[in-house]
Amino acid sequence: MTPIFFDHISTTPLDPRVFAAMRPYFTELYGNPSSHIHDQGQEGLKAVDAARSSVAALIGAKPGEIVFTSGATESNNLAVKGAAGASAEKWKHIVATEVEHFSVLNALIPLSNRGYEVTLLPVDTDGKVDPEDVRKAIRSDTLLVSVMHANSEIGTIEPVAEIGRIAKGRGVLFHMDATASAGHLPLDVGEIGADLVTLSAHNFYGPKGTGALYVREGVALESQIDGGFQERGFRAGTENVPGIVGMGAAAAIARDEREGWAAHLRRLEGKLREGVGKTVEHLHFTGHPTDRLPGHVSFWVEFAEGESLLLFLNVHGVMAASGSACSSNLRGHDEEDLVASPVLRAIGVPSDICTGSITFSMGKGNTEGEVDHVLGTLPGIVKRLWEMSPTYLDYQKKKA
Ligand code: PMP
Repeated sequence: MTPIFFDHISTTPLDPRVFAAMRPYFTELYGNPSSHIHDQGQEGLKAVDAARSSVAALIGAKPGEIVFTSGATESNNLAVKGAAGASAEKWKHIVATEVEHFSVLNALIPLSNRGYEVTLLPVDTDGKVDPEDVRKAIRSDTLLVSVMHANSEIGTIEPVAEIGRIAKGRGVLFHMDATASAGHLPLDVGEIGADLVTLSAHNFYGPKGTGALYVREGVALESQIDGGFQERGFRAGTENVPGIVGMGAAAAIARDEREGWAAHLRRLEGKLREGVGKTVEHLHFTGHPTDRLPGHVSFWVEFAEGESLLLFLNVHGVMAASGSACSSNLRGHDEEDLVASPVLRAIGVPSDICTGSITFSMGKGNTEGEVDHVLGTLPGIVKRLWEMSPTYLDYQKKKA
């Protein structure tokens, strides 16, 4: 059986049409956009400008508001640290949520070391932040509110338009990390009222190593890379022209096809969700039941460790993800520590079962047959893990 890739939240396969668009920019069209005095440079500049327009059109922005970066991590760093670096002394407070990605949370650490105060808002058991909490958290010295559009681990879509309205009403910058959602959910920066938006090409069938930050006209940011004057001075360094061309092509395809992908993915999601809910006992879905990324199904299973589930699934040809933070190499923790996923902790999953979380994230190429295969395989894997689990055996004895 061909392996089944249900881990599109970590990355998506490059669309062959995107690869075709990128190809000439590796070979015959190699010009540096800054050298636009000659024909090769002109070709590079034209290609980057066209991609800028295409990415802008995906989110209702103006081309001049798109800054290309190396990906979502860099965009999040530029948004958070760049906004702080460009602001006057008196703006010393930042609001974010407990479920932001590490590229936001860890970017806040050096700022708090420099005297910024950070308020991390809690979320409810579905992973949603309450816009009222955002309203209450904003102070007279608040500079920035940073809330993700959709959570990669549990799929929940945040009430970003309400948060955007609140931030705007108080004259506070609003940064939205749209890494997991861009190209998949409707996203209009005007409607949402976002000032800064993080995008990542490889999350919507584009290449790795390319992302963008939407920077609303008039918003000041301190560049995080010193050098030349590329990207209007926001991001120095010769542009990754093939990557940027790929991001532009992927954005154009997503614009045309996103709704069709979403309809297909909602069908697969419904089938998988219903199937695992019926066939696997002691299963708890995570994230919001309906306000979630299309094709995203996440849950934890009592008495079954997430990493073991992933390993067994892989043996059966199914690739999925466990909670992004259930890893042993988080900053400030020993190599051997298993650290509870902050997202799972934030939604109130008991920390001793944090490693039980599984995320299936399907993509446009997945099929109903693949969902059937997973549904046929998962209950047996869970049963085998339970048979090896002392806590499950204890539970059975007590029940008997
Ligand atoms: N933000 C979110 C919501 C993510 O899920 C991720 C990881 N895919 C990132 C930012 C960072 O993305 P990258 O590792 O591609 O820079």
